[in-house]
Amino acid sequence: MSTSSPIIIVGGGIAGLATALAAAPAPVLLLTRAPGAKGAASAMAQGGIAAALDTGDTPQAHAHDTVVAGSQHNDPAVVDLLTQSAADAVHWLQSIGVAFDSNPDGRLQFGREGGHDRPRIVHAGGDATGAKVMEALVAKARASSHITRRAGVEVDGVLLRDGRVCGIAMINADGQREEIAGRAVVLATGGIGGLFAQTSNPPDADGSGLAIALAAGAALRDVEFVQFHPTALALPGLHSLPLITEALRGAGATLRDSKGRSLMQGVHPLGDLAPRDIVARQVWKANQAGGAVLDAHTVGAAFLHKFPTVFQACMDHGIDPRVQPIPVTPAAHFHMGGVAVDADSRTSVEGLYAVGEVACNGVHGANRLASNSLLEGVVFGRRLGAQLQQLSNPAETDATTSAQRHRESLSAVELEALRGLMMQFMGPLRTRAGLAEGLQECAAFAEAGWQGELAQELLRAAQRRTVSLGAHFLADQSEQLIS
Ligand SMILES: Cc1cc2nc3c(=O)[nH]c(=O)nc-3n(C[C@H](O)[C@H](O)[C@H](O)COP(=O)(O)OP(=O)(O)OC[C@H]3O[C@@H](n4cnc5c(N)ncnc54)[C@H](O)[C@@H]3O)c2cc1C
Repeated sequence: MSTSSPIIIVGGGIAGLATALAAAPAPVLLLTRAPGAKGAASAMAQGGIAAALDTGDTPQAHAHDTVVAGSQHNDPAVVDLLTQSAADAVHWLQSIGVAFDSNPDGRLQFGREGGHDRPRIVHAGGDATGAKVMEALVAKARASSHITRRAGVEVDGVLLRDGRVCGIAMINADGQREEIAGRAVVLATGGIGGLFAQTSNPPDADGSGLAIALAAGAALRDVEFVQFHPTALALPGLHSLPLITEALRGAGATLRDSKGRSLMQGVHPLGDLAPRDIVARQVWKANQAGGAVLDAHTVGAAFLHKFPTVFQACMDHGIDPRVQPIPVTPAAHFHMGGVAVDADSRTSVEGLYAVGEVACNGVHGANRLASNSLLEGVVFGRRLGAQLQQLSNPAETDATTSAQRHRESLSAVELEALRGLMMQFMGPLRTRAGLAEGLQECAAFAEAGWQGELAQELLRAAQRRTVSLGAHFLADQSEQLIS
C-alpha cells in the first residue's frame, strides 16, 4: 500500500459527499454506480431539512419530536448530536451554494411536516430540495482536488488484513474485477427500498452496502425497522413509484376505499393526517380488500401550481387528479436500521465505517421523523470526514484476504419474486405467522443470491422482535391499535 492510499468512499449521495468534502486534504476515492447525483435517493428528496433555526425553536424541541417519532427507541446522545449540529449543517450547505427558499425580507422559509411541533423544515426550489442540495455538493466535489471520482462501478466486497479492512473489491466500468487498497473504507450506499415490490426509492437502493458489511463480519442493528410511505402512486407492474405528498391531505384530499368510504375517519384523531405508519396500514388493508384512492378533487384548479410534481406524475400515467381519484399504495421509503455504528460512524470491524441511510447509529429509533435523514447525512458525514482526515496509513503487509458478498445477484425474475415476498411479509402490516412463512420461502432466495441472504437477515430480525414497536407492527400481537 503506498503512503498516499486514499480513503475509499462507496456512494455519492449526501452522506458520501459530505464525508468526502470534510476529509480534505486527505486523498479520497469516491466510487459510485452512476455518475453525478444519478441513482442517489438524496437527489429525490422533496420536503427538506429539519433544523431549529426559527425564532423560539430549540435543538431540544427538535430532539423531543425526533424521539417521540422514534417510539423512544432512539439513542438520546446521538439525537442531541444531530439536532445541536443542525443549524451548522444548514449554514454549511448555504456556504457551498445551496439557496434555501426565503421570504422577501431574506429570512428563511420554514415548512411544517408530520411529527414536528412547529414549522422547522428548510427547503430549496420548493419541492426540489434534494436536487438542489446535490447540485451544490456534486459541483463542490468536482472542484475539490483531493477527491477522485469513479462512476459505473459495482463494489461488492472489502479487503481485509489481520481482521482490519484495508480496501475494496469491485467490478469496474470495463466489467473487470479490480481491488483497490485504502486507509479506510466508508459505506455510504443508501437504503433498501429496492428489496420491496413497491418503493419510493431509486432501484439502486438495494442494500448492497449492508450485504458487504455482512460479508465483512460487521454487526447490523435494528434492520427490522422499515418506514413505509402511505401514498405512492399505485402503478401496477412498476417498482419505483412517484410519491403523492402528504401535503395534499393537508390541503383537504381524503383517502377512500373502493366503495368510496373514508379510510381514516374514526381511526385516529388526526384523521387523514395521522402518523405515517398508521395511515400506511389503513391503505395497505384497503388495497388487500379491493383498492385505496386519494380523492383530491377539492384541490381543484390550484393543483397545477401548488403540486406541480404530483400533477405531472399523475398526468404522465393518464390520471387527471383534479377530477379523477388517485390510486395509492404504501411504498418502502426509509430504512431506520442498518450497519451498526457508533456516533463516529465506526462499525464493529476496524477500518470499516458506515454513514447515511445504510448506517444505524440509533438516531431514528423505531421510526424516522420527517426531514431528519438529509440532515443525518450532512451531520455525521462531516463529522466522519473530519476524523478520517487525521487517519494515517496502517503498516504495510502483504497478507490480504477479501470478503465479498457471499453469492451472485438474483436473476431479474427471482428479484421480482423476492420483492413481492418482502412486501407481503415484511410490509407495513406483519404477523408472526407471516414472518415464519416469509422466512421459509426466503430460504431458496438466500441460496441463490446476496439479496436473498440480506432479506433473510431482515426477516429474522423482525421475527426476533416479538412486540410491536414504531414501524415494526405485528397485527396478531396488537390488533386493537389498527381497528
Ligand atoms: C422520494 C424520496 C423523498 C425523500 N424526501 C426526503 C426529505 O424531504 N427529507 C429528508 O431528510 N429525507 C428525504 N428522503 C430520504 C433521503 O433522501 C435519504 O435517506 C438520503 O438521501 C440517503 O442518502 P445517502 O447518501 O445515505 O444515500 P443515497 O443518496 O441513496 O446514495 C447512495 C449512493 O450509493 C451508491 N451505491 C450503492 N450501492 C453501491 C455499490 N454496490 N457500489 C457502488 N456504489 C453504490 C449509489 O450509486 C449512490 O451514489 C426521501 C427519500 C425519497 C426516496
